[in-house]
Amino acid sequence: MKPHANYIGGAWVPGPDAAENINPSDTRDVVGLYARASLEQAHDAVAAAAAAQPRWAASLPQQRADALDFIGREIEQRGPELADLLAREEGKPLAEARGEVQRAAHIFRFFAGEALRAGGELLPSTRAGLAVEITREPVGVVSLITPWNFPIAIPAWKIAPALAHGNAVVFKPAELVPGCAWALAEIISRAGLPAGAFNLVMGSGRALGPALIDDAQVAAVSFTGSEATGRQLAARAVARPGAMARVQLEMGGKNPLVVLDDADLDVAVACALNGAFFSTGQRCTASSRLVVTAGIHDRFVDALVARLQGLVLGDARKPGTTVGPVVDATQLQQDLKYIALARSEGAELAFGGQHHAELEGQPGHYLMPALFIHSTNTMRFNREEIFGPVAGVIRVADADEALAVANDTAYGLSAGVCTTSLKTAAHFKRQLQAGMVMVNAPTAGVDPHVPFGGRKASSHGPREQGRYAAEFYTVVKTAYVAA
Ligand code: ADP
Repeated sequence: MKPHANYIGGAWVPGPDAAENINPSDTRDVVGLYARASLEQAHDAVAAAAAAQPRWAASLPQQRADALDFIGREIEQRGPELADLLAREEGKPLAEARGEVQRAAHIFRFFAGEALRAGGELLPSTRAGLAVEITREPVGVVSLITPWNFPIAIPAWKIAPALAHGNAVVFKPAELVPGCAWALAEIISRAGLPAGAFNLVMGSGRALGPALIDDAQVAAVSFTGSEATGRQLAARAVARPGAMARVQLEMGGKNPLVVLDDADLDVAVACALNGAFFSTGQRCTASSRLVVTAGIHDRFVDALVARLQGLVLGDARKPGTTVGPVVDATQLQQDLKYIALARSEGAELAFGGQHHAELEGQPGHYLMPALFIHSTNTMRFNREEIFGPVAGVIRVADADEALAVANDTAYGLSAGVCTTSLKTAAHFKRQLQAGMVMVNAPTAGVDPHVPFGGRKASSHGPREQGRYAAEFYTVVKTAYVAA
């Protein structure tokens, strides 16, 4: 098997070594070999990006729009093939993988339009004879560091706005999912960008960090991943000598779904099932805390358990599978550790939690989604991000307590409420301390053209996606012009 190479300065460059990309649904299946870049190669990528950036920034908006449109269309045309690759390397069921690939295509096409729409403001000055022009310029070289849980959508929502706004990119995907990243890079390599405007370096973030973050030519770093890594990265970005790097961090979540007495039970159960357990619970917007008022609690738990019994755990690419495997052995151990912890803290397992080292003769990281009841918001498993198919039901007396519990968390990415009262919905919409609020909709699952991001320990820096992405991927210039 020949390793897939890094893409640096417009050329495919093999790494000093390579890693196997393993299918979590069947760990005997090697998806491919992928290069691991050396630190020197990552510095080369940064240098290539720095050299190309002025040319890319000076390109006509139509050229950038055409390139992004080309990328979006090819992703769309190759949807089934890319979705299969995504399901194979990450373990997301095929239907969800298809949705993610489609979303990546939509993101590139949205930002094709943004390249043309970027504009400024012209304001009168407070002083006579002057006018004020406010324009946006590219930031420069941006390092994009992505996690494994959305192998194509998260890279898309960083790469597309970066390129649309005239930046040059060094993209470092998660070690576990280089397949989609490489396929995306290969498409971008044919989109007509100047050599060096887009670079792919694969491998360990820890090893390549000194180039991706500390290299003085990097103007900005956009990161999605764990809170611990995010904090470390931000500290480094400001500690380096000379100009500090701008940072955008998307990190953890402990998202509440509030179910109130007057909720439509079917809607609430559907939101909980999707939000907590789809994509094997491996979404930063997953509803890991189900905050349920006393009047509907028992009916809600019974109905949710009934729906959980209908889930089909299996190979992500097998038709009919609704829950795929956990992404790898490390994540599985973390999930199992929290399941044991929840039990020891006194929560009662109402469904699931069984680990299967093998299903239908296939060795994989299979875990039946786990639903805990009789849990409290002070239990550690309800406070720390697990990033797996584990959720706790927290019973509360009324809507006021539900709101207090929902907000009693270090995080603030997404929060949901299920109610049939317009007045209550409006109250929760205003009071929930989260970047995204969902009314009668799952906490996970967002549109590609509107801002994405959180509050508190979930996020740092400006929002991603939509036209708000310009806040991060451009710098503002204020010009005073005497007439
Ligand atoms: P996860 O639990 O999703 O793997 P991480 O924060 O460890 O979360 O990883 C998210 C991304 O950050 C990955 O692409 C990873 O390689 C990268 N990364 C991890 N550690 C560092 C680091 N010290 N510097 C830069 N990037 C890193």
